[in-house]
Amino acid sequence: MIKVTSEQIAEQYKIMHSVREHFSALGKEPKCYIRTFGCQQNEADSEQLRGMTSEMGYARTDTPEDADLILINTCAVREHAELRALSTTGQFKKLKEKNPELYIGVCGCMVTQEHRMDQVKKSYPYVDFLVGTGMLYKLPEILAKQLDGGKRSFTVDSPEGSLAEGLPIERESKATAWVSVMYGCNNFCSYCVVPYTRGRERSRERSDILAEVKRVIADGAKEITLLGQNVNSYSSDGGDFADLVDEICALDGDFILRFMTSHPKDASRKLIDTMAKNDKCAKQFHLPLQSGSGRILHEMNRKYTPESYLELVKYMREKMPDIALSSDIIVGFPGETDEEFEETLSMLRTVGFDMVYSFIYSPRPLTPAAAMTCQIPQEVKSKRFDRLLEVQNEISLAKNLSLVGKHQRVLVTGESKNSPDMLTGRADSNKLVHIPRDAASEAYIGKFANVKITKAETFALFGELA
Ligand code: SF4
Repeated sequence: MIKVTSEQIAEQYKIMHSVREHFSALGKEPKCYIRTFGCQQNEADSEQLRGMTSEMGYARTDTPEDADLILINTCAVREHAELRALSTTGQFKKLKEKNPELYIGVCGCMVTQEHRMDQVKKSYPYVDFLVGTGMLYKLPEILAKQLDGGKRSFTVDSPEGSLAEGLPIERESKATAWVSVMYGCNNFCSYCVVPYTRGRERSRERSDILAEVKRVIADGAKEITLLGQNVNSYSSDGGDFADLVDEICALDGDFILRFMTSHPKDASRKLIDTMAKNDKCAKQFHLPLQSGSGRILHEMNRKYTPESYLELVKYMREKMPDIALSSDIIVGFPGETDEEFEETLSMLRTVGFDMVYSFIYSPRPLTPAAAMTCQIPQEVKSKRFDRLLEVQNEISLAKNLSLVGKHQRVLVTGESKNSPDMLTGRADSNKLVHIPRDAASEAYIGKFANVKITKAETFALFGELA
């Protein structure tokens, strides 16, 4: 792992300020447009990209046509996400033709893969620079060279990845904050590209994380989500992830703590005990199951069994009877038989997840599963996917209906995407809750409200201030 030194970070700050002065001397107010694909970690990375561009004097714009700098932060977890990022990059060609002073950079997981890097180099000649996930801290240096008339540049990662502290972050929201605690993954699940695109596991120092959490609390954060590709593997200064959760929950402030993404083989009893005893810890757990078949889990290199998963769920429910559980499921992994798919459906019914994120298996280059000869035909995968949704939607709806008439603490975050007449927020269980918008409810934006649930749908609850 490459630990970026404080001198290297100071150098990037120096460059950021000289870029700002450059624009100021020209009397120019440049604008930056950032498009993000993929997971919460990418969202968090984009907040750092926004922090750096803001430090360089760029104002934010949501209109690419107005931008002087366009950054596309890509994802590689599924082919579909890569194709969308490439298509978006393609759409910016015309803007570059109209405005040769526009700079376009493609960042993140997709370009960390050699074949995609080559593809962007050759087929997207108007892209000025590529930056891999572990090299994002070098954005100021890369951009300054471009502004100085430099050649196209391609800065990708070393396989072990890097760790950089102290970069500016411009968060999307004041009430909710992502805080990365570790990066990378050592698990090499046979379908997953993350260990190849984000490198090996490395944890931030506990003191750095605590300082950042204290800062976001002081800035008004009410919901803090600790992020890591394999968050339960966090380890620093002799302490593990449960110790970190315990220490954060002991901080002053009215906030709720969440974390993701967990791995059933690393989610410890100690972590569950820590969650149970701390009121500030959300009684909600996202625990990717991926498949209900022991054979498929073995082929996926997941290192747990359906039985050990159920044991873990049992322990959680003993300690936290009202815990909300969510999961990820992959449908159509190579060789999955109808019976093995039925085992997954049976697990959904046995566990009774509140919510499931299901994905059709997508072969990823470099991964062992992509080379398996027993790939499942697309129409079979699609049928299984639809069936899984049908089964899970019924379970989710029943879970939500059981909350009608009950009170939930909800962090109200702002206008609902569905209607300007509604506000939206998340219950402690992480369920989406909509409430009518009026002067009384608006006063709760960025705060916790006590909401009485009056109606439930599969993906959302509806209520009123209690
Ligand atoms: S635990 Fe498995 S699925 Fe998760 S990031 Fe690591 S390799 Fe990928």
